[in-house]
Amino acid sequence: MKKYIVYEDNLMELFKRCPVCSRSCVLNTRTIGTLLHVEQKCTHCEYYYNWTSQPYINNIPAGNLHLAAAVLFTGSSFAKTHKSNEVGNSQRMEKEGFERSIEVLEKRGLKIKVVVTDRHTGVQKFMRKDIVHHFDQWHMGKGIGKKIDALAKLKNCQEVGPWRKSVVNHLYWSGSTSTSGKEVVAKWTSVANHIQDIHIHDGELFPKCLHQPLVGEQARQWLKPSTAACEKLTEILLAPRLMKDMEKISPEHHTSAIESFHSLVLKFSPKNVVFSFLGMLCRYAIPSWL
Ligand SMILES: [Zn+2]
Ligand SMILES: [Zn+2]
Repeated sequence: MKKYIVYEDNLMELFKRCPVCSRSCVLNTRTIGTLLHVEQKCTHCEYYYNWTSQPYINNIPAGNLHLAAAVLFTGSSFAKTHKSNEVGNSQRMEKEGFERSIEVLEKRGLKIKVVVTDRHTGVQKFMRKDIVHHFDQWHMGKGIGKKIDALAKLKNCQEVGPWRKSVVNHLYWSGSTSTSGKEVVAKWTSVANHIQDIHIHDGELFPKCLHQPLVGEQARQWLKPSTAACEKLTEILLAPRLMKDMEKISPEHHTSAIESFHSLVLKFSPKNVVFSFLGMLCRYAIPSWL
């Protein structure tokens, strides 16, 4: 017997109207694995029909039996097939998760103005035009900190190491004290001068550093222009993609609370194991009991 893949809306077309009086029917559906039951009731003329999408083989829906056999006979296993997640891969899961979360929040009446995320390139693609998208400060600072750490490991670039903390702090400060993306960028780019003991900058948005003259310990760390350390650190600080993203850094809202929630959730649902939606939901509930 041939089998077909049928979409719900198309299938329900067949049951919408009462075949006796042609008025609309009340439909109830339930599934057992791949089997679909449709209960069709006419409230106008008492017509009643109970339809199943598959024949039965010894009380087992034939489709369930055939699918189980097909999985086994093609060398796969039920556990593996069942685990195949809903959306295919983690990139798509991120999109799916984002869309579903927005839907849930809006259904509950929340008007979403701003969303703060990391700089994951995928997220930017599916961000809606009517929502302001910001990047989280901590994520951006972490990315730059890592790059500076790696640079400080190179033989002739060790002197960039002590700058890590001030550079990351400067990023937080640029993000939190600005009223526009352009102002963030102006403040941020000044750090490439500052590390070379230059405190007067081009442009009107941030023409000079706000700090007092630096002396003692701080004054000894200036990077000499044209040295490998200075050139390479400047390259990191002024990288085109970073500059572009810097305009969208979040001025006030942060993702830190959800990050720490996720790190707690990870103890119960390690990333290298695939859980079903329900399994994941249960595991998400555990931290809230603790
Ligand atoms: Zn009827
Ligand atoms: Zn300065």
